[in-house]
Amino acid sequence: MKISGYGIQPDDKPESRPFGETSHLKGSGVSPGVAIGVVYLIEHGTIGVPRYTIADHDIGAEKERLEAAAKKSVSQVEKLIAQIADGDGGASDELGEILSAHVHMLQGSRLIRGALALIGERRLNAEAAVQSMIREISGQYAAIKDTYLAARVHDIEDVGHRLIRNLVDAPVPSFANLPEGCIVLAEEITPADTALMDPARISGFATTFGGAEAHTAIMARSLGLPAVVGINDLVAAAQNGDLAILDGQSGALIVNPSPYEVEQYQKRQDEIREEKRQLAHLRELPAETTDGMRVQLSANLELASEMEMALDAGAQSIGLVRTEFMFMNRETLPSEEEQTEVLSELVQKAAGLPVTIRTLDVGGDKIARGLGLEVSGEGANPALGLRAIRFSLKQRDLYERQVAAILRASAVGPVRILLPMITTAEEVKAARRLIAGVYKRLTDKGEGPSALPPVGIMIEVPAAALSADALANVSDFFSIGTNDLTQYTLAIDRTNDQVASLFDVLNPAVLRLIQFAASAAENAGIPINLCGEMAGDERLTPLLLGLGLTELSMSAPALLRVKRRIRELSQIAAEDCAARIMAQTDRAQIAAILSDFNELSLTFQ
Ligand code: PEP
Ligand code: MG
Repeated sequence: MKISGYGIQPDDKPESRPFGETSHLKGSGVSPGVAIGVVYLIEHGTIGVPRYTIADHDIGAEKERLEAAAKKSVSQVEKLIAQIADGDGGASDELGEILSAHVHMLQGSRLIRGALALIGERRLNAEAAVQSMIREISGQYAAIKDTYLAARVHDIEDVGHRLIRNLVDAPVPSFANLPEGCIVLAEEITPADTALMDPARISGFATTFGGAEAHTAIMARSLGLPAVVGINDLVAAAQNGDLAILDGQSGALIVNPSPYEVEQYQKRQDEIREEKRQLAHLRELPAETTDGMRVQLSANLELASEMEMALDAGAQSIGLVRTEFMFMNRETLPSEEEQTEVLSELVQKAAGLPVTIRTLDVGGDKIARGLGLEVSGEGANPALGLRAIRFSLKQRDLYERQVAAILRASAVGPVRILLPMITTAEEVKAARRLIAGVYKRLTDKGEGPSALPPVGIMIEVPAAALSADALANVSDFFSIGTNDLTQYTLAIDRTNDQVASLFDVLNPAVLRLIQFAASAAENAGIPINLCGEMAGDERLTPLLLGLGLTELSMSAPALLRVKRRIRELSQIAAEDCAARIMAQTDRAQIAAILSDFNELSLTFQ
């Protein structure tokens, strides 16, 4: 959907366009910052296609693999069609028709039938079979010299490449070779893809699919990479090499901007740089309200490489290490030794700051190929499936290896163990038994740490929040994960752009669960931290402090902004603001109270 009339406009300066036609596109800004660079389009045809012969007894499984990839491709294309239907017609109608034809091709057309036959007859792997069929059909259409059929060649290629990409299940091609400073545009970028992005080479990205609380967006914020998701017609609107501007705050993407627009956004980049310089002065100052309430500000790590940014921002601890990064972008599982090495290095780099290491949270949008199909995310509701602690308690060997690595790393410096997606006290007890067993095994060999680290739980499932008083009896600390707590309370898939606008941390139901968990922790006398994305939004800081939350963990780039906000606030005013909010059941009123409070308290500083 192309839109105009928002963001910085050319005003009364009708400049000549530097390259092709200018497009103003709009999505949701999910990671702030402004990028100006050349477009790099991730298309389906850019991946290498493996080719090998399969054994006779694998023919059935290979055909099933192709059928599963076709099914996944259909659901991706149907998602695109649904998005277009929400658009504003015009070019979108035509695109909708083309995509409907793609769905048809993916459901038993010659392409699929032919590839299935090649798997059976020539024992070709599925990717190579699809590629052979693309070549065969395209060659025949091209030979007929009919313009209609020539256009269909593109459709066959598009569909075939989508299938191959889903079969290979590969991350987008090596980001290392992209033009420096480019803006990546793609239909979808997974968390594993994002893990491969080097902010020194890539200046930002935009996608068609995705939500603000999905892990791809979280990683972009952690890396400080401007990002926008949910842009319709994205891939069709730009070409490789076009100049583009991406505004991760407003969600604007301008392809082929005017020189005037470039100038305006360059000024915005200067302002952002200046703000960073100002914030850096706060690094050594305490996170303390004007009336003396101290807050502990910690950093979340999605990747080991983020440690430096966390320390630069003056984090007082590492409040959440998402260990999934060790399982991404690889076919094999990391050994106990490898995990020990990576985690020990992290703990060492933290130089005495406590590090809270969360055990594996795969499932949902966090997929690890090495773990096989069981957590492939392909079920009807993967976020409600075999995710996180549920998976770990089933895969005991894998879990024991991870726990052993965490325990070994805890010999290097202070560590806490955090259990994800806890629903019941039984899960906590089972995990604790396993941890105690591994600890005994290590200490018997003289290899364990001197003491068992504290074991805490994520409060991110409504059932856990509502039974926080009981869970406090079996937990050494709580960490509230508002990303999942909101997803599961409101039944809104955090990765789905179509319901992204309904994802709302200010919903009274979510706030009541946070309040209940906070008071259960206080009554039990155990520490409680909040490590969901809410913690990094300084507009919400008064509410969180007012609810009694004095430990917040967030992506490193947000930390100093939140500290600045804390230093402007008084505890009394924050508590009053929170009390007024919690007395409300109307979401609009809650938002109004918060924004009035923010405006007033900022104005009167
Ligand atoms: C959360 O759910 O809020 C959380 C911090 O965990 P993750 O985003 O990794 O699911
Ligand atoms: Mg979570």
